[in-house]
Amino acid sequence: MRVAVFSTTSYDRRFLDAANAHRHELDYYEPSLSAATAPLAGEAQAVCAFVNDTLDARCLAHLAKNGVRLIALRCAGFNNVDLKAASANGIMIARVPAYSPHAVAEHTLALILTLNRKTHRAYNRVREGNFSLEGLLGFDLHGKTVGVIGTGKIGQVVLRILQGFGCHCLAFDPYPNPDVEALGARYVSKAELLGQSHIITLHCPLTPETHHFIDKAAISTCRPGVMLVNTSRGSVIDTHAVIAGLKSGAIGSLALDVYEEESELFFRDHSAEIIRDDLFARLLTFPNVLLTGHQAFFTQEALTNISEITLANIDSFAQTGRPVHPVTMD
Ligand code: NAD
Repeated sequence: MRVAVFSTTSYDRRFLDAANAHRHELDYYEPSLSAATAPLAGEAQAVCAFVNDTLDARCLAHLAKNGVRLIALRCAGFNNVDLKAASANGIMIARVPAYSPHAVAEHTLALILTLNRKTHRAYNRVREGNFSLEGLLGFDLHGKTVGVIGTGKIGQVVLRILQGFGCHCLAFDPYPNPDVEALGARYVSKAELLGQSHIITLHCPLTPETHHFIDKAAISTCRPGVMLVNTSRGSVIDTHAVIAGLKSGAIGSLALDVYEEESELFFRDHSAEIIRDDLFARLLTFPNVLLTGHQAFFTQEALTNISEITLANIDSFAQTGRPVHPVTMD
């Protein structure tokens, strides 16, 4: 099949070419996919897209008109796709449901440990000959209560790692899983989790129910000075409310790998430009905020799995008209 790959970086090309082994014709495009860039797909029968591509009704209608029948997402989340419009246009959506929960879970722990022990600040200080410990005080993770919101594949790996640190683990998920309780975590209500946790980490998908799950009201019920960590999707937290919480001290520290308006910023080098997003710029000013640019998934193992599963979706669609991992509307 001829496949137009959008939002391509050097590492996408490297891992996808290795997985493809010349089976399909992969045309790589650096721009992200939107209605404006959809014409680049030309006569491709499939499109390969990523988390910040905008697959809205206009984009999908354009792709369908030119003969695209499959969108192979090289990510798990599909909140950026208008599924109704895809179905109306006869386009199938495929995704990579799991590629390495360890990658995201381990990055989550890296954020927690860095934010707590301030290794990012210590690194710069020591290089400048400043060995003062002022401002670097952390706390023992051992014995702290950590609330995990969303106990799917990633949430469960996070819980397993936290057990090793000797944390008390609370969990919230509308679909409790006995395996999670076997790990030593206790399912509680959202209110109890927010009220008791020293650290709250988000691992749920972005859905209408989880949009702004952490908002002003939620923050007002949290343990004062809570550490909040989000590696799920930006809009699961209300950035305005979180900034207000940081200013008042209600939130003691914040780590984000995802951001509500990240599609304008992430995965590109903007170091020579002015950041026009005032909310993001405000976040950068807090000493107790740690931001990474959606890199939690970014390990060799995850990229290998993403590429192989994406190619398996394309192979299966080419042979049977159905990808291995279709996204359905229910
Ligand atoms: P998963 O589907 O295995 O687990 C998601 C869990 O969230 C499920 O147990 C589900 O029941 C639960 N959930 C659904 N609605 C909820 C709600 N209202 N409140 C609490 N829990 C709810 O998914 P996963 O593989 O563990 O991934 C979780 C999320 O992590 C993804 O949806 C994606 O947004 C994000 N993610 C981020 C990165 C990154 O690089 N930062 C990479 C992969 C995935």
